[in-house]
Amino acid sequence: MSESLLVLNSGSSSIKFRLFSVTPLELQARGKVTGIGGDTHLQVIDSAGKTLLDEQLSAGAGDHQQALDRLLSWGEQQGLMAELQAAGHRVVHGGTQFHQPMAVDEAVLDHLKQLIPLAPLHQPHNIAGIEALAARLPDLPQVACFDTAFHAAQPPVAQALALPRQFSDEGIRRYGFHGLSYEYIASVLPETLGVAKASGRVVVAHLGNGASMCALHDGRSVASTMGFTALDGLPMGTRCGSIDPGVVLYLISEHGLGVDAVNDLLYHRSGLLGVSGISNDMRELLASSHAHAAEAIELFVYRINRELGSLVAALGGLDALVFTAGIGEHAAPVRAQVGELAAWAGICIDPVANQNHGPGISTPDSAAEVWVIPTNEERMIAQHTCRILGLSA
Ligand code: ADP
Repeated sequence: MSESLLVLNSGSSSIKFRLFSVTPLELQARGKVTGIGGDTHLQVIDSAGKTLLDEQLSAGAGDHQQALDRLLSWGEQQGLMAELQAAGHRVVHGGTQFHQPMAVDEAVLDHLKQLIPLAPLHQPHNIAGIEALAARLPDLPQVACFDTAFHAAQPPVAQALALPRQFSDEGIRRYGFHGLSYEYIASVLPETLGVAKASGRVVVAHLGNGASMCALHDGRSVASTMGFTALDGLPMGTRCGSIDPGVVLYLISEHGLGVDAVNDLLYHRSGLLGVSGISNDMRELLASSHAHAAEAIELFVYRINRELGSLVAALGGLDALVFTAGIGEHAAPVRAQVGELAAWAGICIDPVANQNHGPGISTPDSAAEVWVIPTNEERMIAQHTCRILGLSA
């Protein structure tokens, strides 16, 4: 294999990784660790889809560090790491300072650690990936790419929170997340929607285990549903999304919950899992005949429609709606239900095109086009890493 680049994307329950050749930037191998926190499984496939590695890592207690250690050992045995030129990492939070991808040094790493309280579910795992690589390959250049960076140029009013100024001066404001996904979608909009529509008013719904929506104008983020942390906005797999802050005060005063208990409740036990009592996984909910599964999906869809209204208001209109990420790309029933509720916006989804996952799924007379576009955060990270390190041709 020629010179290559490793991209790590550590999510809440999975680590997705991709190995790219550098010149040209092409996918060589990909894989993921799934079931983190439970039965952990590691799979690597090459660009042709052939399985290179498929193994159970642990039954019951796999963690991010163990999964990365095994991946790196395997890569070294295969001789892949010897050809590594660099690594790019998805890092959820760049705070107020990092508005662009950053080459990682000690000062950058220190700053990333200081930001852990802002994204406790993701930032520690992102940092663990950087440190695991640095321990084995201390000279390997590493680049951190931030989920917040794409939103940094939002109008100040979209970033503001109505708190006393001392708190906003301290950095307590809306940041927005899933920026690498939105940046990738924005980069492919012209070839998918055409240049004119791509420069218009587009709402992107990134519906994965984590879920958010973003308003794009001329390919730039102008508003998003996630705010200070990745807890805000839509209900997610296990996260509550927007709730009245008074609920938190009530839980503390009336239920005697402490910080850790509230954190656990809002991040790990709410959202689709909390409402359904069955699962955080949309596939399981769609397959279930239990009324609580249907209620969880109904709430998810209802909130998507409410947030759509808010983002369309921020944009002053809507030219296109894009669905992406696991649920957005694969769950036709969820898209269909969103389309029904979004009739107020003149949206009309073609049932057959939707069932076939598009890419275009709106009817010709729909007031706004509706698209399904697979996201590719890893490719975005690879492009940033090459650019920052001067690796691209
Ligand atoms: P993450 O935020 O962990 O990256 P993903 O983007 O992989 O999440 O999305 C995971 C979600 O997508 C899960 O709720 C899963 O059930 C859902 N999903 C994936 N494939 C399908 C499918 N074929 N039908 C319905 N939902 C799906």
